Amino acid sequence: MADIVVDGERIVRLGPGAGAGVAPAVDCTGKLVLPAYIDGHVHLDKVLIRDELREHDGTLSGAIGAIHERKRRYTLDDVRGRAREVIEESVRSGTTRLRSHVDVDTIGGLRPLEGVLAAAAECDDIAVVQTIAFPQEGLLRDPGAYDLMEAALETGAHVVGGMPHWEVDEDAQREHVRLCFELADRFDRDVDMHVDETDDGGVRTLEMVADEALRRGFIGRVCAGHVCSLAAADHEYADRVIAKCRRAGISIAANPVTNLVLQGRGDRGLIRRGTTRIAEMRAAGVNVLFGQDCVKDGFYPFGRGSMLEVALISAHAAHLTTRSDLAFALTAVTDAPARAMRLTDYGLAVGARADLQLLPVPSWEEAIRVQPLPEKVWFKGRLVAENSVRSELHRRS
Ligand SMILES: [Zn+2]
Repeated sequence: MADIVVDGERIVRLGPGAGAGVAPAVDCTGKLVLPAYIDGHVHLDKVLIRDELREHDGTLSGAIGAIHERKRRYTLDDVRGRAREVIEESVRSGTTRLRSHVDVDTIGGLRPLEGVLAAAAECDDIAVVQTIAFPQEGLLRDPGAYDLMEAALETGAHVVGGMPHWEVDEDAQREHVRLCFELADRFDRDVDMHVDETDDGGVRTLEMVADEALRRGFIGRVCAGHVCSLAAADHEYADRVIAKCRRAGISIAANPVTNLVLQGRGDRGLIRRGTTRIAEMRAAGVNVLFGQDCVKDGFYPFGRGSMLEVALISAHAAHLTTRSDLAFALTAVTDAPARAMRLTDYGLAVGARADLQLLPVPSWEEAIRVQPLPEKVWFKGRLVAENSVRSELHRRS
């Protein structure tokens, strides 16, 4: 039982008796207060386009191809409206910080970025949205994309993205990685890439990313998303690469929610889950986060900006069932993305920004099991969302 005292945007006192002499504003007795969730890996430019796409084979490449036609028709207002809807939905569900990849390529140009930046500005009273310039079509495969990446960073993208495994061969993959780090160096930005989102254990760009981070001294400044193929590589190789990730302070955005449906499509019988080596990375001390990744787009027909749902589905995918495992699932949607984003003002701590939520359950184990909406959500100390659910059971009298 503890008090949380907020003054302005910050938590100023915390602990049993901390609220002595302060008029209580919200009685949280018997309920759970958590820091607001962080969605550390989402694609706000693509959200909610599913109904307009042709059907495809369900794979990553099938989805990317199906999106091209729609991406050509993006307008700033169209992207802004869809992104805004998902930011608002995320806030209602207890998330106040998001890090969004935004496609930067010769198909959509800078429209996706401009739309997401506009939505972020419109929502800056309820959430903070970081953007990642994401060359999804490749840098060498898509001539002109590198110049657009520079323009995106000049326009306001916060982080350098990448997708090296999409290039045609290993030399091109290595060059893609080098170009991304060169941009990050030049613009003094962190790196957050899509890495090895395939079941093919022979695809090994995570090691290239780790080597480049170590060579340039980008320690603790890189996040690698998905990293599915590491699960298919041999154990000795995987151990070596995980150790390198640990040394380079690389965060891993495992996104089991989408990879459960995208990967393993070619398997019969024992169908792979598509997730990376979550347990091994956790044991090695690598920072692992879970992202929503997709909301009703070409890759994934579900998603509603609920990190509580993401934690639950990820717990199934990664065999997380003990109390310690469930605590890890909570970390993966709170402290781990905060660390990946190098936030210094996050959490239930004195001095942290008062981004908080109140859940109508007594514990995190109950929260992840019954999936309640937060009763209240605060952003910078201000109440920004409230939810109430009415349910009645009519027994015979
Ligand atoms: Zn992604």
